[in-house]
Amino acid sequence: METPFSDFSRLGEEFRRCRKPVVVVGSGIFGSVMAERLASDGGRDVFVLEKRSQFGGNSYSAPDPETGIETHRYGSHIFHTKSQRVWDYISRFTKFNTYRHKVMITRRGRVYAMPISLFTINTFFEKNLKPADVAPFLAASAEKFRDRVPANLEEKAISLIGEDLYRAFIKEYTEKQWGRPAAELPAEIITRLPVRRNYNIDYFNDPFQGIPIDGYGKLFARLLENPKIRVFLNTDYFDVRGLFPESVETVWTGPADRLLDYKYGYLEWRSLRFEWETHNTADFQGTSVMNYADHDVPWTRIHEFKHYHPEREEIFESAKTVICKEFPAAWKPGDEPYYPINNERNRELYKKYAGEITQRPGWHLGGRLGAYQYWDMDRAVENALDLYERAFRR
Ligand code: FAD
Ligand code: UDP
Repeated sequence: METPFSDFSRLGEEFRRCRKPVVVVGSGIFGSVMAERLASDGGRDVFVLEKRSQFGGNSYSAPDPETGIETHRYGSHIFHTKSQRVWDYISRFTKFNTYRHKVMITRRGRVYAMPISLFTINTFFEKNLKPADVAPFLAASAEKFRDRVPANLEEKAISLIGEDLYRAFIKEYTEKQWGRPAAELPAEIITRLPVRRNYNIDYFNDPFQGIPIDGYGKLFARLLENPKIRVFLNTDYFDVRGLFPESVETVWTGPADRLLDYKYGYLEWRSLRFEWETHNTADFQGTSVMNYADHDVPWTRIHEFKHYHPEREEIFESAKTVICKEFPAAWKPGDEPYYPINNERNRELYKKYAGEITQRPGWHLGGRLGAYQYWDMDRAVENALDLYERAFRR
């Protein structure tokens, strides 16, 4: 399979040769799905501009050159969805292995399973509760939210799992992750995690789950392989926009405020830093993700990538392993944006930017940066498919 790189110096020349080209800024899963639909279904010539040296955005993975272990370059990415439509679409470009995500959490030197399940409850409280015992057991702390909607993440978590489990597994992790008190964060963040009264310790409820069998890098190469798609790497939109006429149809998947030169102020984000290590051991932590609940451990989680591909037996059993520690970080303009800070101020600011961008004829906003949304990959795929149907399908 050929990777569709094109030469940056030929960009302007190629562009002028095409009839009704579309520019897609960003080659993450949103931009790549858009490009695929535009070229394969719409028959359009697509110019994908990507400022990084590889396509795939934050979902990218590739084999580590030293060990051959498939590493997710921006932290663990597990494809999971409830949507048959999304699963059917993405499965045209990759086979998935049978991996189902499980997460362990270390707290005060002991290991438990996350999210909160009967297993976590029984190990934490040293009990042998049955499923029917859980609600009465947690009832006392949920009591105060009987007549009142929990107003923030702290209250929501306490209403779901009670004060003790909240303090043990959520409060310190959350405050480390977001750099602010849990009582100042929106309740929705915590509803990403299920709470179970049985021994199912899967991280996600979604029926469709897996890791692309030959990695995300190959999945993206297949999404982008149509010859009508030209991918320009190491190409920041702002360095080349003069090559395109104002009127060209453009799908923007970068941050909305950047496109308008931050004229109303900066949208705020939480950032991350990754530290990589290769160890001369077959298995560092025995699982793909170990969370760290304690506030005095500076990372939130350690990823060990070989666990995502137990089917790659030779590599799985080899005497080396690659791990990555994930550190939450304050964000300032110019840093990599990872998580939107979805508070009132930012929501209002975002509306201003989005309103103005989508007023421009032929301009479309999308992706987790452009939409300023905490989306998993399946939501990004679904939104790209929807935008294509709505705005481009003939
Ligand atoms: P991105 O992947 O961010 O792609 C945007 C692209 O636009 C980038 O490549 C960027 O370089 C490019 N770009 C921006 N500005 C410009 C410019 N001016 N010029 C040219 N290019 C530009 N989702 C899951 O489903 N499962 C998971 O397990 C999971 N784990 C995650 C773990 C972490 C630590 C994080 C942060 C996210 C995780 N996600 C996960 C979410 C997932 O990363 C996103 O859903 C996905 O990346 C969204 O794709 P996107 O195309 O919208 O954005
Ligand atoms: N969370 C927590 N403890 C954990 C895992 C998650 O308190 O062990 C909280 C935290 O606030 C986090 C949110 O739940 O931001 C959502 O977790 P998820 O794993 O979905 O976050 P992501 O993978 O997107 O970083």
